[in-house]
Amino acid sequence: MSRRILVTSALPYANGAIHLGHLVEYIQTDIWVRFQRMQGHEVHYVCADDTHGTPVMLRADAEGITPERLIERVWREHKRDFDGFGVGFDNYYSTNSPENRALCEAIYGALTAQDLIAVRSVEQFYDPVKAMFLPDRYIKGECPKCGAKDQYGDSCEVCGATYAPTELKNPYSTVSGAKPERRQSEHYFFKLSDPRCEAFLREFTQTSGTLQPEAANKMKEWLGEPGDSKLSDWDISRDAPYFGFAIPGTDGKKFFYVWLDAPVGYFGSFTHHVRSKNLDEKLLQDFLRPGGDTELVHFIGKDILYFHALFWPAMLKHAGFRTPTRIYAHGFLTVNGEKMSKSRGTFITAESYIRQGLNPEWLRYYYAAKLGPTMEDIDLNLEDFVARVNSDLVGKYVNIASRAATFLTKHFDGRLSSSQMLSKIDPVAVGERAEASKTIAEAYDAREYGKALREIMRIADGINQYVDLKKPWVLAKDEPQRDLLQAICSKCIFDFKMLSVFLAPVLPATARKVAQEFFGLERDFIWSDYNVYPEKINPYSHLTNRIDPKQIEALVAANRESLKPAAAAPHSQQRHAQHQENAVKAATQPETISIDDFTKIDLRVARIANAEHVEGADKLLKLTLDVGSLGTKQVFAGIKSAYDPEQLKGRLTVMVANLAPRKMKFGMSEGMVLAASGEAPGLYILSPDSGAQPGMRIK
Ligand SMILES: [Zn+2]
Repeated sequence: MSRRILVTSALPYANGAIHLGHLVEYIQTDIWVRFQRMQGHEVHYVCADDTHGTPVMLRADAEGITPERLIERVWREHKRDFDGFGVGFDNYYSTNSPENRALCEAIYGALTAQDLIAVRSVEQFYDPVKAMFLPDRYIKGECPKCGAKDQYGDSCEVCGATYAPTELKNPYSTVSGAKPERRQSEHYFFKLSDPRCEAFLREFTQTSGTLQPEAANKMKEWLGEPGDSKLSDWDISRDAPYFGFAIPGTDGKKFFYVWLDAPVGYFGSFTHHVRSKNLDEKLLQDFLRPGGDTELVHFIGKDILYFHALFWPAMLKHAGFRTPTRIYAHGFLTVNGEKMSKSRGTFITAESYIRQGLNPEWLRYYYAAKLGPTMEDIDLNLEDFVARVNSDLVGKYVNIASRAATFLTKHFDGRLSSSQMLSKIDPVAVGERAEASKTIAEAYDAREYGKALREIMRIADGINQYVDLKKPWVLAKDEPQRDLLQAICSKCIFDFKMLSVFLAPVLPATARKVAQEFFGLERDFIWSDYNVYPEKINPYSHLTNRIDPKQIEALVAANRESLKPAAAAPHSQQRHAQHQENAVKAATQPETISIDDFTKIDLRVARIANAEHVEGADKLLKLTLDVGSLGTKQVFAGIKSAYDPEQLKGRLTVMVANLAPRKMKFGMSEGMVLAASGEAPGLYILSPDSGAQPGMRIK
């Protein structure tokens, strides 16, 4: 049965370069799309740049160009990078398009007619110099806990405290440096708390297969108990000046928040795909409206799950559009087990990878080998990358063709044995081939690419062992054995063709070369080619090199930036994710937590074994804590203003013992002591009642 699928990858934001972290998702999606096409299904794969919002506006401003010029330049860079890695969108578009505007207005109009839009007053930071409202991420100030300067409005990089932007001391706008004001403004809300939305989302998020099991559980948590919904309304407007679409009927004073028009951009891109290529207009009805037999499949990062699993489907449902069939979230990329880092040179851009002359299919292969159906993070270990590609692709896969083809070309003019002859030497292979095809196809469809590749390499190992056993180089010297030599090499080439078909979703350029140059097909492989016996081959020409570890060293060196003080700001991608997370939190009222959340915090009684001043630190004391059975822990605490170290020695207090250790300027901090503070100056650490012993758990 043929499937009809509209597939999307998340829209990259138009103010930065595509890096290897982004590529996990595009490569994951592209492999799935190519696999489905090889099965004969109708697939439309669309994407676009996410162009609107304050960051693009401010960056264009800083560069002295219009936002339109900026996004056009970034679009070309993004398109170049995706093309470079073989990501085959049917349409790569922009959210700043007439199609997207029309769709946003239609959705907004329908939601208004359904009485699902509310207008309410909101207090926000306002930059009086720039004359604009500012998102929280553009506010910095001193940490309310430790007093560190230049901290963002959500968390402190020095002591790890989290807080609301309003709690920052001496806040300033990072755009103009001015002291921000709090101002009221009317905002538009999508009434997500409406019982209609709640009822729909309960069903939608728990429909089997729509979300991954771990995502469905997460949504259950976010939705809360029936009758006690945790959903609150979603702020969908921003005030002028803003780069985006004006909300109809507001005289250009209010704009759709970028997170409203970004997902609509999937539909905008699809609409443009259909119209610009003069495809049947009926496709728009089939794929964008409810009731058809088509599928809508979104591939996204786990950080934007809430937007895609809550806001977006609720909006679509009540505006008369179809809702997503499947939402597949993946984890983040780490490099050598750590977050990508500019100072370590592991924040690698797509462009630099290609510029260093590395083959994009190597990375596609490595990612595929690591990818599974869950939201787990995947690690690009650079040493393992070299080893795996060299061993699997060169040592196993390509090796089969180069070993067998030479004999066929030299002695048989490239002709393979008759298939009857083949079945004489290879009587069991037919069933095995069909079995392998089934296993591998199921793994691709379920996004278990790692499993598919393990199976493919297992088969490749078997073929190489077969060659070692049959020793064609010995047979070649023995004239009477020529038929056998031909049959053995033919079997290897047939199997090589099968492996090439199975690898084609992952290695499209290599597979194309094999199909067209080696086997002389006039098209790319389709899945059923795996079992079509070739009659003839063209002389083997080189398919791929080994990776030289020096190339990786050069890549890392090219991406390494020396740490300048100004570069200490966290990367915009992380800020973006944080920003989204905050928006979600704001919309889902996390003011209550479950007992499970609470028990995640390992609170312990600790004895302050030692307390001392820290040279060069204005606010910190260095504490050595005796935590009983947990041993001793070193903690830097921002309590110098309130305590003399001598006074603290020997006291019992309370610490968070399972806080991830943080490397601070003065050393590692392995936890946090708790202290109370209020509006007035003063800071008070906690003490347990007498009798408590170091190491006791607090619960
Ligand atoms: Zn701090």
